[in-house]
Amino acid sequence: MGIIQKNDCIFCKFVTGEIKPAVVFKNESVLAILDINPAGALCGHTLVMPKKHFETIEDCPEKELKEAIAAVKKLVPAIKMVSGAEGINVIQNNGQAAGQLVNHVHFHIIPRARGDGIHFNENRRKPRPMELTEAAEAIKKALE
Ligand code: AMP
Ligand code: ZN
Repeated sequence: MGIIQKNDCIFCKFVTGEIKPAVVFKNESVLAILDINPAGALCGHTLVMPKKHFETIEDCPEKELKEAIAAVKKLVPAIKMVSGAEGINVIQNNGQAAGQLVNHVHFHIIPRARGDGIHFNENRRKPRPMELTEAAEAIKKALE
């Protein structure tokens, strides 16, 4: 189980109010704030987090994840309208290797426009024949 707040976690400090971010939404279990370093030029890059401290999606119970994703769903149309975005990325990083900088699980909501220069698509590779089938089978097995 996670802990309620972790001393050295900046997102926990947002939850307690020790540091005051730009809050866009909160309820009993979720806090959503604007990212201080937004990706791209559109306003509205938002971070949605459970109020309780869990490091990654693996540590976070389904209940908290469901509440976070429900908040994401609520926020997406509002962010789209406000930013004028043509599309939205919802991204969630786990572990340093995946680009996680803050070890308090969170979802990014990133407003996108055609040709906005945000590249999540770089360094893609073409899998060898059968790789996808084999990987899908292995994942299915792991879920059993
Ligand atoms: P991640 O790389 O998925 O861990 O994302 C962490 C995000 O937190 C980054 O996009 C940072 O820009 C954002 N961030 C870090 N410090 C602050 C802060 N004080 N206020 C708002 N966003 C922050
Ligand atoms: Zn935390």
